[in-house]
Amino acid sequence: MAKKIVVIPGDGIGEEITNSAVAVMKRVAERFSLDLEYEYKDAGGTAYDKFGVPLPEDTLNACKSADGILFGAVGGDKWDNVEPALRPEKAILGLRKGLGLYANLRPVKVADSLTEYSPLKPELVKGVDLVIVRELVGGIYFGEKCESEQHNGAERAWDLENYSVPEVQRIARLAFETAKLRRGVVTSVDKANVLATSRLWRRTVAQVAKEYPEVELKNLYVDNTAMQLAVRPAQFDVILTGNLFGDILSDEAAVIGGSIGMMPSASIGELTSLYEPIHGSAPDIAGKGIANPVGTILSAAMLFRYSLKEEQAAVAIEQAVDKALNQGWRTADLWHEGLKKADTDTMTQAVIDCI
Ligand code: NAD
Repeated sequence: MAKKIVVIPGDGIGEEITNSAVAVMKRVAERFSLDLEYEYKDAGGTAYDKFGVPLPEDTLNACKSADGILFGAVGGDKWDNVEPALRPEKAILGLRKGLGLYANLRPVKVADSLTEYSPLKPELVKGVDLVIVRELVGGIYFGEKCESEQHNGAERAWDLENYSVPEVQRIARLAFETAKLRRGVVTSVDKANVLATSRLWRRTVAQVAKEYPEVELKNLYVDNTAMQLAVRPAQFDVILTGNLFGDILSDEAAVIGGSIGMMPSASIGELTSLYEPIHGSAPDIAGKGIANPVGTILSAAMLFRYSLKEEQAAVAIEQAVDKALNQGWRTADLWHEGLKKADTDTMTQAVIDCI
């Protein structure tokens, strides 16, 4: 039976980059004889214009029965004055909630041909190949909060951080499973020297680790992790962490790669998962056909790996991207004298030709 992929182009460059990724998926499906069908749905500003809401029921329902979801990006100046509850970006939160997307996977892999774009010295970023596994629906972002109250004669506000053992077990298992497919090392990041939630986190992760004797577990405080990412990023394989620390560390790690257009991500759910580049809808270049499609193409590779369990297809896409880069192809965001300049379609074709 054909596997159903829901494609949500969204706004801005979303359509251009998802078209590229689907073209690559079709090529790899052909090569590995995989039967995939694609269903296109609206979300974001485009959906707001058509239906008055950023996430139509029809889109959410299609996603619920999908084997995987490929998402472009949403948002743009056009919808700046839309009331907050109906803004395009609300589609992302609606999908996270509606699909129970509890984990965010952010790989950072720096190809040798791209070390020059990193703000770190090339010798530091050479060989960086890590994944951050971030808990996405718990912790301080979703805890009880108080915007303002009087306490001992002063105004104060507070946010409550809490994690339950099952929440930590679920994300920890995903990190260990991810590590099994990679180099087999999980670094769990917390602040156990100060926070009670971190101590429960550390204890629970250690328990889960016993189910995975083939994976090595290391523990690191979040402040030290932030430093290590800047001084020796190549030491990491899988970084496992909570919502708040993961939010900050994944942006720090993304910068190491040097280009926002190259970075994929996955949001993992119990039933289905969503794959999207880390960048936004880039309204400044939308419609010009010059967007870098690689972040979305690599997101499609993650879809093959994590949702369709087609590791060979995932690797074929990743190797094709590396090959196209080694041949000198670069979109405008990364191009300089001496390299081959590609628009979105040319870059896509260069990758397809390498599969
Ligand atoms: P952005 O990521 O869209 O763009 C930042 C800069 O990076 C721009 O100069 C853009 O041209 C460039 N850029 C981004 N992706 C690129 C690509 N693939 N190729 C070449 N250049 C690329 O961030 P922004 O400008 O802050 O946000 C624009 C809109 O996107 C806003 O409405 C924002 O809310 C939304 N947004 C959506 C998502 C999402 O859908 N997940 C994420 C972030 C921002």
